[in-house]
Amino acid sequence: MNPLYRNDRPGEFPRSWYAATAEIPNERPPLQGDSTADVCIVGAGYTGLSAARHLAEKGFDVVVLDAHRAGFGASGRNGGQVCSGYNSDQSTLIKKIGHDHAKALWDLSEEAKTDLRTLCADHIPEARYTPGLIHGTYTPQDAAHDRTEVDLLTQDYGYAQARMCDRDEMRSLVKSQQYEGGLLDMGAGHIHPLRYAFGLARLAEAAGARIYERSEVLRIDRGDPATVATDKGHVKARHVILAGNGYLPNLERKVAARVMPLNSFICATEPLGDRADQVFGQDVAVNDSKWVVNYFRLSEDRRLLFGGRPSYSIGFPNDITTLLHKRIIDLFPQLKGVKIDYAWGGSVGVTMTRLPAVMRVAPNIVSAGGFAGHGVALSGLAGKVMAEAIAGQAAKFDTLADLKIPSFPGGSVMRSPILRLAMTWYSLRDRLGV
Ligand SMILES: Cc1cc2nc3c(=O)[nH]c(=O)nc-3n(C[C@H](O)[C@H](O)[C@H](O)COP(=O)(O)OP(=O)(O)OC[C@H]3O[C@@H](n4cnc5c(N)ncnc54)[C@H](O)[C@@H]3O)c2cc1C
Repeated sequence: MNPLYRNDRPGEFPRSWYAATAEIPNERPPLQGDSTADVCIVGAGYTGLSAARHLAEKGFDVVVLDAHRAGFGASGRNGGQVCSGYNSDQSTLIKKIGHDHAKALWDLSEEAKTDLRTLCADHIPEARYTPGLIHGTYTPQDAAHDRTEVDLLTQDYGYAQARMCDRDEMRSLVKSQQYEGGLLDMGAGHIHPLRYAFGLARLAEAAGARIYERSEVLRIDRGDPATVATDKGHVKARHVILAGNGYLPNLERKVAARVMPLNSFICATEPLGDRADQVFGQDVAVNDSKWVVNYFRLSEDRRLLFGGRPSYSIGFPNDITTLLHKRIIDLFPQLKGVKIDYAWGGSVGVTMTRLPAVMRVAPNIVSAGGFAGHGVALSGLAGKVMAEAIAGQAAKFDTLADLKIPSFPGGSVMRSPILRLAMTWYSLRDRLGV
């Protein structure tokens, strides 16, 4: 089943709080007939749009094709959390790949956040970048782990923006009796993700990129130039960028073996008004140390935006609202009876190691995806480094590509059932607290 169409209507944004509070641009026309470009980009999320802007600013002739709309995918429906680093902490990365490579990756992730903040400040203020992200911990072991990470970041990397909160401080910032502590990172933050995606599309077009919507890429014929085919047209291009992430499972075998869709779900409560003060003491985003992670924050109209409960099934569950409502009340019993106005889901691209899969698929085809829950900042950076690689400067691209992401076991047929089983096991561990 094609994840592009399994849970969504063609060309329609999901009924999310984000879509309800963004100015949705008029639909762009689909690709018709034969066209040429220096670079053809498949996918108009943060990855593809960032690549398009950077390439167009360098003078390349760029075409972007999206099966739905620019910002339709994960980029327009995520938790909005702008996280530091990767979906693996630095101490683990150092053990796996050594100090130098891990530090080079950290520097890139810092560049990713700086780029995002600068874009928001200079060009996309409506995305409302807000600093502050807390990682909530449930046990002393989780807290000790976070403490080691903070020590490493401050002492070895000179990163001064993260610090530990003890139980009392944590509970004054995020008013759940379940948290035993937290790691507060003021160098991370949160945004309105759909407005940010629309802003990136606007900037890419202003730089000269052409974006076609409702233009699903069905086939790529390799060669120089490569030919990218939709049902109504073709683009002959010297370079191709694959930026379909979790929605692109079967177009290119090497990518499909390494990046697979994982669905995640979010809801927005009714506006909480003064009740918001019973949940938050400060406007910070939160994610936590459950393996099946909860992530949440306040919206600008003081709703609780609450996400979690990932699933490897391609189809969304029938009742996302009830599933998330239960998780909200578990953490915040004081919100008993709160109404949920919006609930939606989306596809996150994940890899075996939860680190991004940036790769050269053929001499003139590059791909980036699998950012897991860290893509809000990292995907823009991946787009930028693919653009630089095409322009002849591949050093940063190589730093990411050197991560060498393994294929999922089980091939494209068995990987989902195997991972579903693993997910069930880990969520059981969360519930038992082991
Ligand atoms: C519910 C949810 C919550 C998340 N929360 C966070 C968070 O809080 N923080 C964080 O850092 N990350 C989060 N993420 C992950 C983050 O959103 C992604 O990593 C990031 O948006 C990836 O951007 P992308 O451009 O690579 O992919 P996408 O935004 O998914 O874009 C891919 C695009 O490619 C198009 N496409 C695919 N196949 C084709 C084809 N064959 N032809 C044409 N077009 C095609 C799709 O239509 C889509 O528009 C979350 C994701 C989800 C789904």
